[in-house]
This record gives sequence, structure tokens and C-alpha cells, in this order.
Amino acid sequence: MSSVILTDPSFDAHTWHGHVEIASRLVAIRQGITRSGLHQQLQHRFPQPAAEAWLEAVHTPRLLRLVRQMASYGGGQFDSDTYVTADSWDVACLAAGSAVGAVEAVAGSNVRHAFALVRPPGHHATPGQAMGFCLINNIAVAARYAQRQLGVQRIAIVDYDVHHGNGTQDIFYDDPHVLFCSTHAAPFYPGTGSLAEMGDRVDALGQTLNVPLPFGTGDRGYTTVFREIIAPALHRFQPELIMVSAGYDAHWSDPLGPMMLSVDGFAALNRQLLDLADELCDGRMVMVLEGGYNLEALSACVVASLRQLLGMAPGPDPIGAVSSPEPMEEIQQVITTLRARHPLLG
Ligand SMILES: [Zn+2]
Repeated sequence: MSSVILTDPSFDAHTWHGHVEIASRLVAIRQGITRSGLHQQLQHRFPQPAAEAWLEAVHTPRLLRLVRQMASYGGGQFDSDTYVTADSWDVACLAAGSAVGAVEAVAGSNVRHAFALVRPPGHHATPGQAMGFCLINNIAVAARYAQRQLGVQRIAIVDYDVHHGNGTQDIFYDDPHVLFCSTHAAPFYPGTGSLAEMGDRVDALGQTLNVPLPFGTGDRGYTTVFREIIAPALHRFQPELIMVSAGYDAHWSDPLGPMMLSVDGFAALNRQLLDLADELCDGRMVMVLEGGYNLEALSACVVASLRQLLGMAPGPDPIGAVSSPEPMEEIQQVITTLRARHPLLG
């Protein structure tokens, strides 16, 4: 059973001097994959741009028009974080199309895992707003495609990027067929993702699961949360497909994130997700790249994730872990509160 990656060097055209979300992120990942020797073992597919109808299944026509116009005028900024270059419309359509291609790949009979290695990231993009480095919500476009084109009834999206995936949450907040789970630092950008946000009260109460975590949470805290919260919620929800918003900015060395995960820690989270995919959905799992801004850690985390998708034993963590104590008491309080209040955990 092979694993697929979808990526394209043309993503590098979306880059902005002095920003952290730049071309060198995917350059580092490509170099890491080449150095690791995984290149030959992965099946490579070149993505196609997402058809506009699928972008419109997630975003307002106004937002799509704004991104396209800003690019056609040579570029600009939605806010101080979120830029557009002359190439960004084409790049954003290709990033969303890569995520769509990843979903298509695992819908076939001989691929179980696919990783869309894309830029710009997508999980902050709401139906009507580009923000937080994100223009189009790649994973949401792909999930809509899986629902409406491939007939997938129940999709779980797990977002372990250090930031809350507010855009993905907004898009699926009233959708009872998509479970959105996010672990993220709190209080932190973008300020959403509280325990009380659990999905729309009419149709989808309990289909949003937020785990806001204190600064300094590391391997022990995250693996505990995945074992005691994420796994039982997914068991209860019974997804037909697991999708992962794979941001690596919760690594301890990340310049933006306040968390303490190691490369091995991320690998442990992926192991839990792959085991859940095996148990619940015939192994089908799609990963879509989000954040991660220390290039060495980002590349090492992606390579470790790809080794897991290929069923290989983990290699040594090239960066190592930090031994600072974790705020386990606060983490346990979050777990206890969720168990008491969240409909999927009762
Ligand atoms: Zn992030």
C-alpha cells in the first residue's frame, strides 16, 4: 500500500521579503525528503488547481474576487500578517487542489495515506476572510470535495497546529457530518478556540472539539490529550476519513509557538492518529501542511511524518527534546472539563 505526496515547486512563487511564511519552508522540506532517502519510496503526484466551484463551496465570492484582484494588481496585504503576490491566486488554487488531490488519492483502492505539502497554509481562512498567512482554506476545500464529490459521509479533521484553526471551525460549525478537533496554545493568536465552542446548537452541537492548552505543553501533555480526548471523540464520531491540519509550529524551537513538542512527540501524535485511522476508517488518512517556522524542525517533522505514513520505524530525533517541566495540572483540568461538558465525551 503506497503513500502519496502532492507538492509543486511553483508554491515558491508566493513569498514576501521579511515574512516567516516564505518559500524556504518548502525548500527545506524538499531537501529533507531528498536527504532522508524517502524520495524513491513515496508516490509523487503533481497537483491540479482546485476548480473554482470547490473554492466557492467554502468561501464567499467576494473573498475569492479580492484575492484574485489583489494578485492581478501585482500583490498587496489583507492585514499585517497576510500577503498576496502577483502569483498568489494561482498558488492558492494549486494548494487547495493539492489537498483535493490527496483526498482523491486515498479514495482509490491502493493508497491509504496522502500528504499535501502546500503553501500558503489555510486553516485561518474563514468563509469571507483571508487572515493569519492564509488565503484559501485548503483542508476545508478538500473536505467539502470529499463530502460532495466522493460521497464521504463523516469526516474528522484534527488540527495540531499551535494556532487555533478558526477558519476550519467557522466553515464546519453547523455541519453535523464534520468533526473538527483542535489542540492549540491559549491564550494565543487568533484568540478563538475556547472549550465552550462546541458546534452550532441546532444541528451540530458536539461536532467541534477545542482543546486550549497552556504555554509549555510538550510531548507528555499532548500525548495525554490525544489519548484521553481526541481518541475517544473519534471513536464516538466514527469517521470514514481522518484529515490532519499538520502544523509543526508547536515544536519547542519554533520562533512563533510557545509549546514544547519534539519531533518524537509529533511522531507519537501521528502514531495515535494512524492507529485510529486503522481502527475506524480502513487506514485512510490525509495530511495537509499548515504552519511550522523553524526550518530545521519543520523539515524533520515532515520527514518523520512521512516515515510513519510509509510504515517505517521512527528515525532518531535530529533536534532532541527539552526537559522543562510541563503544566500537567492545568492540562488535566482542561481534560476534566471537556469530559464533563463535551457531548462526544460524556
Ligand atoms: Zn500555526
